Amino acid sequence: MNRSEEDYVKVIYELSNRNKAEMIKTNVLAEHFGYTDQSVNEMVNRLQKKGLLDFVPYKGVALTPSGEAEAIRMIRSHRIWEVFLSEKLHIPANHVHEDAEMLEHATSDHVLKALYDFLGKPKRCQHGNPIPDFSGMVEIPEDIALSDCDQGDVFILERIRDADGLLQFLEDKSIRLSDRFEIHAKDTFNHLIELKCDNRTMTLSLKTARMLFGRCVSA
Ligand SMILES: [Zn+2]
Repeated sequence: MNRSEEDYVKVIYELSNRNKAEMIKTNVLAEHFGYTDQSVNEMVNRLQKKGLLDFVPYKGVALTPSGEAEAIRMIRSHRIWEVFLSEKLHIPANHVHEDAEMLEHATSDHVLKALYDFLGKPKRCQHGNPIPDFSGMVEIPEDIALSDCDQGDVFILERIRDADGLLQFLEDKSIRLSDRFEIHAKDTFNHLIELKCDNRTMTLSLKTARMLFGRCVSA
């Protein structure tokens, strides 16, 4: 598999988990990557021929078990590299994602396994996301999104979706794992959520709040 094939498989896996959908429509993929429908269709054909996904016209694509195994392998590699970059090289957590994106594709299974053992078999990456173990077991976190909290709730941040731009945004706002937020107001019309953390107040979009996960304790 080349890098763009691996990225497709990973994105299909993440989108179907995130949306709890069995099939992902090809226009959703085109939108996600910013590619044309034609180039997405060509890639879908290629991955189908390789036995990594099934395509059903008008319904979309779903990974086959071997496609899913490839996606999990990429995610495992990505998250193990993030732990290494931040714990051993002391690169700030908001800067490890881009390098992990490159390294995940360039790592053989035996190097990854050695790295995993060297790091003491970490359970989560620096952004709180679970690392699939080598048997393919993936922990499904039992947390909720900040966007699902209501006014008056207290939310403790435990996991951040690994997304370009988001990590830098959170750094700029000094938002970190285990921060505790009081939900001051939730404005579903304007898609905003107003928070209080220590002595700071801040307003986030509900789009951002959907990428932050943790525990919600009623105040
Ligand atoms: Zn990452």
